[in-house]
Amino acid sequence: MARVVVIGGGFGGLASAARLAKLGHEVTLIEQERTLGGALTTIEKDGFRWDAGPTSTLLPAVIRDFFRKSGRAAEKEIDLVPLEPVAQHRFADETVLDLPGGSRAAQLDAIESALGRGAGARWVSYVDDFAEVWEALRKDWFERPWSPEHAPKQTRALLETRLTLQKLVAKEFKDSRLRDLALHATRFEGHDPRNVPAWVGVWSYVEQNFGAWTLPGGMGQLTGVLAERLATRGVTVTTSTTATDLVVEAGRVVAVSTTAGDLAADVVVVAIDPRRLPALADQVARTMPVIPPVMCHMGIVGEVPDLPHEVVIHGDPCLVLRTNGTAPDGAHAWTVLGRGRLAEDIVTALQRSGIRVRDQVEVRIDRSPRELVADWNGSPSGVLWQGRGTVRHRMGTTSPIAGVYLAGAHTTPGAGLPSVGLSAALVAQVVGPA
Ligand SMILES: Cc1cc2nc3c(=O)[nH]c(=O)nc-3n(C[C@H](O)[C@H](O)[C@H](O)COP(=O)(O)OP(=O)(O)OC[C@H]3O[C@@H](n4cnc5c(N)ncnc54)[C@H](O)[C@@H]3O)c2cc1C
Repeated sequence: MARVVVIGGGFGGLASAARLAKLGHEVTLIEQERTLGGALTTIEKDGFRWDAGPTSTLLPAVIRDFFRKSGRAAEKEIDLVPLEPVAQHRFADETVLDLPGGSRAAQLDAIESALGRGAGARWVSYVDDFAEVWEALRKDWFERPWSPEHAPKQTRALLETRLTLQKLVAKEFKDSRLRDLALHATRFEGHDPRNVPAWVGVWSYVEQNFGAWTLPGGMGQLTGVLAERLATRGVTVTTSTTATDLVVEAGRVVAVSTTAGDLAADVVVVAIDPRRLPALADQVARTMPVIPPVMCHMGIVGEVPDLPHEVVIHGDPCLVLRTNGTAPDGAHAWTVLGRGRLAEDIVTALQRSGIRVRDQVEVRIDRSPRELVADWNGSPSGVLWQGRGTVRHRMGTTSPIAGVYLAGAHTTPGAGLPSVGLSAALVAQVVGPA
């Protein structure tokens, strides 16, 4: 049995701690804030409740696998439901597309009828091309710790490609709406598609094949369930404590320095931005964090348009409206996120886009990117793509320091709940049973 210290109580840290405890290790998790969850939390005010960060997830199998491997099946603890549609896309020419998830045929039909004849066929043909990419990445990138040594030549070539997502999409589509559809997720996560390798488009394939899923009442509830799982598994949780560095002797970690003193450790899981720990900072000197979007949580009274869970308003700025908050009777809890040229108040920008609720907003909480990074002690959106080299410059599951492993948005395979959940599974795989 190893003494494991997990640094960071976001989804990455919580999932790693629960898995390692189930494998029989003695686990302590330390979190800088008073509460757990990182971005995976809820915000409440005057009877309104919003997800602070994620509101849905792709690849629900990751969450199901976590529950199975850490003690109890997901169905016994949470109610994961598919989102239908995955999102409504509103384009600059006022076309509206309700994009279904989990079905190639449904996407073909919906795009064909919203964007015109031939558009659906072009879209599914683009997505089909990612089938092989998905198979390769699943085996060598998502389900085992990435290393160029173990991967077949084709996967190495895929990850090293010079083809960017921007170029691929420009080549595939003349229709700017299809281009926006293909580039939206990457752009909205804060990346410039000119710096993103083409294979990252695989998420369109994942969305089409496995759908997007949510928890009625908010994704943030997952943190409460995970915290219970840690308690059941006997994990010691220490909040309001900051990890300041790793103590390394003869190339092996022996402790974590914290604001409450040193914690002895045989194994350390770093589930935060490694740039925060001097012992690892040099390893990631060439990375930059992604800046989160501008956010505004709104408590709205009176009649509102009937909108799906997520509405994407393409353009510059690009706005994403998430309608899944919980509110008192007759009211609505929505969140609007913005990226790009936001030269005016975000609720005014939403009004201008045709969703006119500005005068009904009774409660609002504005959160700037700077405030989000300060509140979360780093960016939950992970590492910025700066070209294909980012695969090498970002850290993987293992580190050059014996006993130190990495999970969370800043490591391979990347940000977002599916990748972060997989990073915890990879750590458990490498550390192994006690
Ligand atoms: C606005 C927004 C919306 C999003 N929406 C979605 C979505 O809909 N679907 C999706 O899949 N993904 C979404 N994401 C991405 C997803 O939320 C994150 O990638 C994921 O939650 C990151 O988890 P994490 O554990 O790596 O990091 P975090 O959630 O950032 O957690 C890190 C934790 O570590 C703590 N910490 C930091 N430094 C220290 C230290 N030195 N010592 C101790 N503790 C420390 C922090 O306080 C924090 O609690 C969204 C992200 C944002 C910002």
